[in-house]
Amino acid sequence: MFWQGRELEDFSSSEWEQLCDGCAKCCLNKLEDEDTEAVVFTRVACRLLDSENCRCTDYDKRHGLVPNCIQVTPAMARSALWLPDSCAYRLVAQGRDLPHWHPLLTGDINSTVAAGESVSGRVLSEEYVHPDGLDEHIITWVSV
Ligand code: SF4
Ligand code: SF4
Repeated sequence: MFWQGRELEDFSSSEWEQLCDGCAKCCLNKLEDEDTEAVVFTRVACRLLDSENCRCTDYDKRHGLVPNCIQVTPAMARSALWLPDSCAYRLVAQGRDLPHWHPLLTGDINSTVAAGESVSGRVLSEEYVHPDGLDEHIITWVSV
């Protein structure tokens, strides 16, 4: 299992990509408290997200189309407390096991959605929500 017992910086780009479980939780709009800097998620998804199968509809051009699209880095995996507890990058950074539904363990790229561990069916597109109304859609994750 290539993700165990290694420094995050030693992963190849292909290995790093495979580590993502495809939950799409990081594709949701977030709000930050100006005073405390605490970050909360909303159920409002990026306009490029296919919210049923949790795929980015323009993955190759995503950073040009969505400037705040997140590229998780090793440093972020270690320190970004706002990443969901279930995020595979966080788990590996903490030396924890991947959950049994992770595609790297199931061999099925759709297993995160099938296990009910993604945002599939639970979100709405930002195309339908005014930015000033994001705070009406704040959610919390259930920890793994
Ligand atoms: S939260 Fe983590 S595991 Fe889930 S899609 Fe984002 S980067 Fe991938
Ligand atoms: S551009 Fe694609 S990968 Fe980036 S946040 Fe939007 S849906 Fe997710």
